[in-house]
Amino acid sequence: MSQPFDYDLFVIGGGSGGVRAARIAAAEGGARVALAEEDRMGGTCVIRGCVPKKLMVFASSYPAMLREAVTYGWQVSAGGFDWPAFRSKLEAELDRLEGAYRNTLAKAGVEVFNVRATLDDPHTVRLTTGQVVTARTILIATGGRPFVPEFPGSDLVMTSNDMFHLPELPKRLLIVGGGYIASEFACIMNGLGVRVSQFYRGAQILRGFDDEARGHVANAMRMKGIDLRTGTSIIRLQRTPEGTIRATTTDGHDCEFDAVMYATGRVPNTEGLGLEALGVGIGRRGQIEVDGWSQTAVPSIFAVGDVTDRINLTPVAIREGHAFADTVFRGVPRQAEHDLVASAVFTQPELGSVGLTEEAAREIEPIEVYATAFRPMQSAFAGDEDRVLMKLIVSRATRRVLGCHIVAPGAGEMIQLAAIAIRMGATKEDFDRTVAVHPTMAEELVTLRTPVRKA
Ligand code: NDP
Repeated sequence: MSQPFDYDLFVIGGGSGGVRAARIAAAEGGARVALAEEDRMGGTCVIRGCVPKKLMVFASSYPAMLREAVTYGWQVSAGGFDWPAFRSKLEAELDRLEGAYRNTLAKAGVEVFNVRATLDDPHTVRLTTGQVVTARTILIATGGRPFVPEFPGSDLVMTSNDMFHLPELPKRLLIVGGGYIASEFACIMNGLGVRVSQFYRGAQILRGFDDEARGHVANAMRMKGIDLRTGTSIIRLQRTPEGTIRATTTDGHDCEFDAVMYATGRVPNTEGLGLEALGVGIGRRGQIEVDGWSQTAVPSIFAVGDVTDRINLTPVAIREGHAFADTVFRGVPRQAEHDLVASAVFTQPELGSVGLTEEAAREIEPIEVYATAFRPMQSAFAGDEDRVLMKLIVSRATRRVLGCHIVAPGAGEMIQLAAIAIRMGATKEDFDRTVAVHPTMAEELVTLRTPVRKA
C-alpha cells in the first residue's frame, strides 16, 4: 500500500525539544521521522548555551577555590588561566556531545538532513538542497537567537554566541543587560580574571525573581568585584583609534572597554519559515502561538521550545517535545506542565528558585515569609563575607510552601530537590518535620522557626 506522506513526522530544528520529539516518535511511536538542522546538532543548550556556559562556570570558580584553599592551609596559587587550552577542550567536548545527539537520532532511525528547511504547505517541507518532502505532521523546534537593539555602534557588540569562541579574553569587558545571561557571564568573566562592568537599565537585575534574592545576588556580585551599575543605559558605542570601544552612557559618562557583550533577551526563530502564509499564528514577539498540546492554528503543524516563547528553558522544551510525541505518536495524550518549574541562575553564588516570589504571592493570598541569611561554614572559616539566603513563602490559609528561593553555592542542586517537595504540595510543617542534614547549608530550610514577615 503506498504511503500518502514521505514521513509521519518532519521536525525542523535539532535542539533539545526537536531531538526529544523525533526520538520518541521514531523509537517508541514507530513513526517514520526526519529532522532538518541547518547548524550543529544539539541546539542552543548544547552548542552555545547551558553546556558550554556551565563548563565556563566551573572554569571560572577555581581562582576563588584556590584562594580559599590557602586559608585552609594549602600551599597553592592559581597561576595563569590558559584560555586557548580550555577553549580547545570545550570545543572537543561539544563535538563529542554533538556526536552523541547524532547517534541517538541514528539509533532511533531518524533521518537527518543537515540543511535549512521551510514550509510550502501544511504537509510539505522544502529543503535548501531543492528537495521537497511531505509529512503527516510537522514540528517546528527552531529555538531562538540573541536580540541586540539597534543604536549607534550596535555593530560593535558581541552576544553570548561569541563568548565561547573568543580568540583571547578581553582585559575589560562591558556586559549590557540584567537577565540570566548577562548576570551569569558577568560572574564567569569576573572569575576568569576579566575586569567586568555590567550595565542594566532597570533598578535591579534579574527581574521576575524574588526581590530579596535579586538584591542578594547583586550585592554578592559587587563584593566579588563586578562593576554592576543599575539605571544605566548605553547611548552609543564608538571604536577608538587604539582599537578599544568607548561607551557613552545615559548618565553622561564615557568608559572604555576591550569588548562589549549584549545580553538583552532572545527572539524566536520564526522568520522565513513560511509560517504566516499557512495561517500559523505568530505573536507580538515573533513566537509561534500554540495551545496546551503545542499545536498551532494549522492542525498538522506543532511547535515546541523557545520558538513558542513559553518558558525558555531546555528541560521545558524537552518536556514539550516528549509530550507532543507521546500524544501524537504513542496514543498517550498529555500536555507539558508549565507550573512550578524550578530554575537556577548560575551566577556566583547561584540563585535557585521555584514557585512564587514574595511579591507575586502576596498579590494572591495572605502569606508568611520565612528567611535567613548567614555566612556559610566553608567560606566563613576562610574569612569571607559571602552570605547565603534561604527563603520560603508559605500560604497562611493552606500552610503550603508556595515558593522557595535560595542564593548559595550549589543552589541549583538544592532547588531541584526542594522543587519535588513543593510540587507534591508540602506544607511548612512538612518541612519542619524533616530532620536536618547537619552540617549543611540546606538544613536551614527545615529549621526556619518564625516568620520574618506576614503579608
Ligand atoms: P532575559 O529576558 O532573562 O533578560 C534580558 C535582559 O535584557 C533584561 O535585563 C532586560 O531588561 C534587558 N533588555 C531587554 N531589552 C533591552 C534593551 N533594548 N536595552 C537594554 N536592555 C534590554 O534574557 P537573557 O538574554 O538573559 O536570557 C534569555 C532566556 O534564556 C532567559 O529568559 C532564560 O529563559 C534562558 N536562560 C536560562 C538560563 C538558566 O536557566 N540558567 C541561562 C541563560 C538563559 P528588563 O528587565 O528591563 O526588561
